[in-house]
Amino acid sequence: MRYSGFRVLQQALTGHKGWQPAWRDPAPKPRYDIVIIGGGGHGLATAYYLARQFGQANIAVLEKGWIGGGNVGRNTTIIRSNYMLDGNEPFYEFSLKLWEGLEQDFNYNAMVSQRGILNLIHSDAQRDAFTRRGNAMILNGADAELLTAEQVRREYPFLNFDNARFPIKGGLAQRRGGTVRHDAVAWGYARGADSRGVDIIQNCEVTGFRIENGTCLGVETSRGFIGAGKVGVAVAGNSSRMMAKAGMRLPIESHVLQAFVTEGLKPVLPGVITFGAGHFYCSQSDKGGLVFGGDLDGYNSYAQRGNLPVVEDVAEGGMALFPGLGRVRLLRMWGGIMDMSMDGSPIIDRTHIDGLYFNGGWCYGGFKATPASGWCFAHLLATDTPHPTATAYRFDRFKRGRMIDEKGMGAQPNLH
Ligand SMILES: Cc1cc2nc3c(=O)[nH]c(=O)nc-3n(C[C@H](O)[C@H](O)[C@H](O)COP(=O)(O)OP(=O)(O)OC[C@H]3O[C@@H](n4cnc5c(N)ncnc54)[C@H](O)[C@@H]3O)c2cc1C
Repeated sequence: MRYSGFRVLQQALTGHKGWQPAWRDPAPKPRYDIVIIGGGGHGLATAYYLARQFGQANIAVLEKGWIGGGNVGRNTTIIRSNYMLDGNEPFYEFSLKLWEGLEQDFNYNAMVSQRGILNLIHSDAQRDAFTRRGNAMILNGADAELLTAEQVRREYPFLNFDNARFPIKGGLAQRRGGTVRHDAVAWGYARGADSRGVDIIQNCEVTGFRIENGTCLGVETSRGFIGAGKVGVAVAGNSSRMMAKAGMRLPIESHVLQAFVTEGLKPVLPGVITFGAGHFYCSQSDKGGLVFGGDLDGYNSYAQRGNLPVVEDVAEGGMALFPGLGRVRLLRMWGGIMDMSMDGSPIIDRTHIDGLYFNGGWCYGGFKATPASGWCFAHLLATDTPHPTATAYRFDRFKRGRMIDEKGMGAQPNLH
């Protein structure tokens, strides 16, 4: 069923009795050409592009819980392509371009809102660094704009410009950045993939791989063995646990990241802002709540909830930037498991086991990467060659010393 304004009108006039489920609930078949493990944004996008772009017809996505229950439905919804390094910027710009056409492409309202993102500048050295980053973005075909403090003040008058420790001296704006309703992305890709014949199987946990003579023949699941020509793993925060079942030890640690939302307010924040002197980022949802986040909890964990010291730390960052926040009531907070790689950049690669492919290590940035990650992983699975924008995201970069350390923070996951 195609969604359109006309369809909404038609259904309204007929008592909304004609809507169909957005995707089927099929029983698993004994074998597929390609099995994707993980029904998050990346797994679903991979299946969608495999079917739509690469003509694959016999695909399953296996999800241990429900669609949208992982990080794809837990993140702070920010999209942007304001990276600097060669390995990253073309990939994230490719992703932003895919976001721009996504809703028409998969015929679903994901509320893509290019309301702009602004990285605040608090020192002269930071202005130099952001100028360099902006130039790298423009060289890669992205948009970037350096703003003075006065220009920032016109758009965000309520920020604390004259804070003695962190005065605001300007900002790096990317007008095409913004937010997307995160769970609608999962639903849109799921519906788009299902309508192209992909079997989306929820409540189906992969418990192991069947590997014989160096070749992956399929997966053991809570619903029995499922054979596969190729297996793609896209389980985000569960990457290390999953790949350990294939005997692999990944350069990835799992950490909790929390997010927060306040009571609804009248429009106050026109775009996304990030604090350049601490770790705090904030936007306003269409319902009016301020959605914000900050640092990781700082210890390894598979729990999808965090602790109070980070709540205090994030609130301090928010108050330094935006003192009015202290008057607003916090409504909800939650956590997700982050797959933090050692250089802060992702991996999309084949493994040393024939037929087994891996996608993970997305750290803080995996939501904005969803379309490009799906496209590039589908490209790798379908053609056995990396997509041109993802050639740097290989396992062996750690061995070859070709890390993509965007922040220059060193090999410690909780720093990225
Ligand atoms: C609080 C928070 C805020 C964030 N904010 C942003 C942001 O603003 N912008 C941004 O770009 N990124 C952000 N991120 C990061 C982003 O959400 C993730 O990097 C991205 O969603 C991960 O990819 P995914 O959507 O495929 O993950 P998930 O949705 O977690 O998908 C993985 C799926 O695999 C399933 N799975 C795991 N093990 C198995 C198994 N054994 N068998 C079957 N299925 C399995 C899980 O149940 C899960 O559904 C944030 C993350 C968090 C937690």
